[in-house]
Amino acid sequence: MQLRQKNKYRRIEEFLRERNCPNFRMKQLLNAIFKERIDKFNDMNVLPKSLRELLVKEFGETILDVVPLKEQHSEQVTKVLFGISGDEKIETVNMKYRAGWESFCISSQCGCSFGCKFCATGDIGLKRNLTSDEMTDQILHFHLLGHSIDSISFMGMGEALSNVQVFDALDVLTDPTLFALSPRRISISTIGIIPSIKKMTQNYPQVNLTFSLHSPFNEQRSKLMPINIRYPLLDVLDTLDEHIRITSRKVYIAYIMLPGVNDSINHAKKVVSLLKGRYKSGSLYHVNLIRYNRTVRSPFRFAEVDESRVVHFYKELKASGLNVTIRSQFGMDIDAACGQLYANYQESNKQ
Ligand code: SF4
Repeated sequence: MQLRQKNKYRRIEEFLRERNCPNFRMKQLLNAIFKERIDKFNDMNVLPKSLRELLVKEFGETILDVVPLKEQHSEQVTKVLFGISGDEKIETVNMKYRAGWESFCISSQCGCSFGCKFCATGDIGLKRNLTSDEMTDQILHFHLLGHSIDSISFMGMGEALSNVQVFDALDVLTDPTLFALSPRRISISTIGIIPSIKKMTQNYPQVNLTFSLHSPFNEQRSKLMPINIRYPLLDVLDTLDEHIRITSRKVYIAYIMLPGVNDSINHAKKVVSLLKGRYKSGSLYHVNLIRYNRTVRSPFRFAEVDESRVVHFYKELKASGLNVTIRSQFGMDIDAACGQLYANYQESNKQ
């Protein structure tokens, strides 16, 4: 069984307590990190020099455990490849919207074991789960650089709900003494890990949930996403209905439009019948249709997107009364699909 580890903020607190430091030292330290945006312990002048030296000795020069290795920029998107312990790498995407809103897509695992057929990260395989610190540090990096953290989605590398440390990361991100983010600004994306969805319902009802559907046909979904054999589609939808009933929160459905695979009118009709037959006639589901992004490395490569099929699919769902949006191809010019920067980095390092 995977156990939750203590995050660094708890470890620092204990470290100070063991050295009989007054309670306000922890407050000063958190103030330096979160208000003054100071990353190096030695630059936290509010702390006595002797304490700064002890902190450096125990925790290293900086509060950050992740190291930025490479950045790619386009007009609205920045993608950062971070180094983590064990010589592994993870990716984070920062998106800037015109209204000034900044959103972040973070990784929860290094690689992934679930092997979805359209996904570059699945092709890497699972290297390891990230710690809570490695997840929250992806955000801390941007915070320390002065970015405003408006929304976060766990939609980078990995299946968030298969890593128990994600729950600690949620606690840290929403802790009023740390990141102090509203849970409503955080989204978790899942391929349908039922026990963890139930945990979200009970313990994190305000965090947004996105379910990756990608096919309304059970058999086809099992081929595209092997997790469907363990947690079949209808069982997941029943769990999501229960989530909506208990939390009164909307659930998002992600649907990647794979050309010639799942973008037919039959698929659209089946999505309609699946969702309209659910709690409150599916009015608390919101379907996001996502144009397929041809990946650099993935087990299968699909054809270019047929725009007319995307539009027909959208119209079928809309006409039924379902909530539906077509998502833009944000970040395609810098390979912003999960796992792509990692894959390119590995390739370039071989040369
Ligand atoms: Fe893993 Fe998500 Fe990719 Fe599936 S889509 S292989 S769960 S990262």
